[in-house]
Amino acid sequence: MLTTCTLCRNSRQICWVHVQSRQCNNCNQSNNNQCDIQVTASEFSKLLKERVLLLKKMDEARAATVAAQDAVVEAQEMLSKALSTEMQLHCQLDYNSH
Ligand SMILES: [Zn+2]
Ligand SMILES: [Zn+2]
Repeated sequence: MLTTCTLCRNSRQICWVHVQSRQCNNCNQSNNNQCDIQVTASEFSKLLKERVLLLKKMDEARAATVAAQDAVVEAQEMLSKALSTEMQLHCQLDYNSH
């Protein structure tokens, strides 16, 4: 879909489009403003959309992680409550059987 810019082709690097700078990643990092990467407007907006989508997915994944952690904490609380209830019942049972 994308062509490699001259600099990357010459240095045999992988040419990634850096969406915010409209340059490729390598040129952006080396502050080369002569990047001639060919990104058409539609490709560019597609990349932007993909980026937004990825950010959204990342947020969702993060929210899922937090929710899962909460669930673990809740489950541990339930477990410790259940254990203490069980212990109490054990004690009562021992007491009653004497
Ligand atoms: Zn490049
Ligand atoms: Zn470049």
